[in-house]
Amino acid sequence: MPSPMPSSLRRPAPLRRPLLLAAIVAGGLTSHPAAAQSSRLHAELDRRVTEVNAKVIAWRRDIHRHPELGFQETRTAALVAAHLQGLGLEVRTGVARTGVVGILRGGKPGRTVALRADMDALPVTELVDLPFKSTVRTTVRGQEVGVMHACGHDNHVAILMGAAEVLAGMRAQLEGTVVFIFQPAEEGPGGALPMIRDGVLDNPKVDAIFGLHVWPEPAGDITVREGPSMAASNSFTITVRGRQTHGSAPWGGVDPIVLGSQIVLGLQTIVSRQVDITANPAIVTVAMFNGGVRSNIIPDTVVLEGTIRTFDRAQRQQIFDRIAITAKQTAIAGGGTAEVRIDSGYPVTRNDVPLTQRMRPSLKRATAPYRVREGALVTGAEDFSYFQERVPGMFVFLGVTPRDQDASKAAKNHSPYFFADESALPVGVRTLASLAVDYLATK
Ligand SMILES: [Zn+2]
Ligand SMILES: [Zn+2]
Repeated sequence: MPSPMPSSLRRPAPLRRPLLLAAIVAGGLTSHPAAAQSSRLHAELDRRVTEVNAKVIAWRRDIHRHPELGFQETRTAALVAAHLQGLGLEVRTGVARTGVVGILRGGKPGRTVALRADMDALPVTELVDLPFKSTVRTTVRGQEVGVMHACGHDNHVAILMGAAEVLAGMRAQLEGTVVFIFQPAEEGPGGALPMIRDGVLDNPKVDAIFGLHVWPEPAGDITVREGPSMAASNSFTITVRGRQTHGSAPWGGVDPIVLGSQIVLGLQTIVSRQVDITANPAIVTVAMFNGGVRSNIIPDTVVLEGTIRTFDRAQRQQIFDRIAITAKQTAIAGGGTAEVRIDSGYPVTRNDVPLTQRMRPSLKRATAPYRVREGALVTGAEDFSYFQERVPGMFVFLGVTPRDQDASKAAKNHSPYFFADESALPVGVRTLASLAVDYLATK
């Protein structure tokens, strides 16, 4: 196999030399006006991140203690809106029902960059013993269950509130506009698309967008991947219809249990035999198989449900087509029928390659003394992908596992034991604020 091209060869050569020459002529690197201005800007940004940190921790604990499910984030939204108004931003509330948008116009003209945080929690009963642990309860499908920020979106909201305060303090130096997007219902049914439909990327027209997600990696490390990063997720339902008969006389009907079983096995051959897995990995999982009420009655119908994960649009369509053909033809072969429904799901979270390459120095600076890691493909999905379908975007992972623990053994997102080390919070604030400042400053 050919060895991959060194990444330095793939990137356009930066125009450093003339700048450096000019700096030397002017009497040294730091005395170059642009370099000096940029290091002054970063020093001020770092100072403001330190100053706001105690507030970020307090907001995060408060939001953690009061988690709200998707499209019910009214308390969180009110907290965010009051904060943004206090900073003097233009604030829009009720965007896509519970979303909040803040617009910060910098002192100098320039482009527009958006920063996004999701606000919703999950129906999970918290088992982490924290002084600010959630005791909120709710009823889901008739079952009483706790509500918890088990995906860590409490951290995202607090981090973006902190970044807003940092950037509002630097308004005069900002070369352009920053749009702060606080989004509902990422965990489903999805708040990004309705926010886009409500115009969050239009007026002012957003040129690039950044977001982050807390993740079980060493606290403070940032993980990034160019191109596809997280999967497209689509769920499917297959209704298999046979004909009811007595369990002792299967020849008198059409057994949908057997047809459904054949379909489950047939679906296993899509990824293993029919798609080019050297181009992209993919997953087809059947997670529900429902039918029948009694051991001696063959039912009329069974319903299968599952999920599809892909990293490429064409491959996704190929898998959709193969699922439909496999289910329908298998059912027909056995004398039954199958109806296939595939939902629209979330698209691939795809980091714009030139943008990601351009922002790497910014990530590196914001993360120091911690590391920027290269990410593997993640088979989870994110509706940040909808923003990236409209404008170039970059989505990174922020490690939150205490550095004295093994991150590979840490509880994953959505676990009742999910835990976020607060030492990562200032790194998150510095990352989002730096991405905005540096993006706007780069011509
Ligand atoms: Zn999640
Ligand atoms: Zn999440």
